[in-house]
Amino acid sequence: MSARSDAPARRAVPGNPEPEWHVGGLAFGCTQCGNCCTGPPGAVWFSEAEGRAMAADRGLSEVDFLARFARTIDGRWSLNETRTEHGFDCVFLDRKAIPGKAICGMYHARPLQCRTWPFWPEILKSKRSWESYRRQTPCPGMGSGAMVPIESIRIQRDAMIDSERPT
Ligand code: SF4
Ligand code: SF4
Repeated sequence: MSARSDAPARRAVPGNPEPEWHVGGLAFGCTQCGNCCTGPPGAVWFSEAEGRAMAADRGLSEVDFLARFARTIDGRWSLNETRTEHGFDCVFLDRKAIPGKAICGMYHARPLQCRTWPFWPEILKSKRSWESYRRQTPCPGMGSGAMVPIESIRIQRDAMIDSERPT
C-alpha cells in the first residue's frame, strides 16, 4: 500500500482555522426550487458595478434601476423583496416562466452572492454548517448532483471573501 494520496492538500481559509473538510469536492445540482431566493426578510447585496450590470441588463439607467429594484441597508445596496405566499421573494425571482420552478430573472447579471451560493465561507466553515444551511434553506441541490471540485469551490469562496474585504 502506498502512503501517496491523490487528494489535494487542505488549504487554510482566512477567518477559519479549520482545514478544508470538503477538500474532496462537494456534490451540488440546483433544482430551481427558488428556496435560496426567498424566506424570511433578508438581503441580496450587490456592488456598484453589479448594480450597473443589472441596470444594463434591464435597459435602464442606474438611477432608475436602483429606484425600482433596490434599497440600502446599513449603507449597502440590496435588491428589493416581494412578499409572496412562499416568503420574501427576491424581486427577480420568477415563479411563472417555468411551471413548478422558480428561476432567476436576472440570471446573466445576478450578483456575486447569487453566483457563488452555496460556496460561501460561512457555509463551508464546517460540515455542520453546510448541513445546517442545507436543511434550513432548505436547498435540495446541496449534497446531490454533480461533484464540484475543490478548485472551483475555492474560486467561489475566495471571491466572496474578497468582496467582503474593506476597500
Ligand atoms: S435552494 Fe438550492 S436547489 Fe433550490 S434554487 Fe437555490 S441553489 Fe437551487
Ligand atoms: S438575483 Fe436571482 S439568484 Fe439572486 S436572489 Fe434574486 S432571484 Fe435569486
